[in-house]
Amino acid sequence: MPIYEYYCTTCDTIYQFLMRGNRKSQDLSCPKCNTSDLERIMSQFSTTSSKSTSDEDMASDMADINENDPKSMARAVRKMADEMGEDLGPELEHALGRLENGEDPEKIEQELEEMGFGEEGIGAAPSPARDPGLY
Ligand SMILES: [Zn+2]
Repeated sequence: MPIYEYYCTTCDTIYQFLMRGNRKSQDLSCPKCNTSDLERIMSQFSTTSSKSTSDEDMASDMADINENDPKSMARAVRKMADEMGEDLGPELEHALGRLENGEDPEKIEQELEEMGFGEEGIGAAPSPARDPGLY
């Protein structure tokens, strides 16, 4: 059963709607503010089947990461960025290179934070918010 994602501009939130039966997209309204002014989000994760596959892929990527092995961490970050189609940018590329050369990950992380790359720098949920419910 397909799940469609819609963005409510009023709430600045993405909601997931289960398109069961003959429910039509024009019948949908925001579960919070009730507006029907919703924008369809075209996402590669918009169906249940592709979502579970991608979760499994992500989980297996995570399983490869050894926190005591900076090289495997650097490799995992590169792979995830690559899969998300994100450009790491020169600063992060440089930091990963240092990680792979065996430098202290905590020191590198601290320097990245000073440059404005916090914990939310990679893989963070973008604004808008995403409602975990299914409507
Ligand atoms: Zn709303």
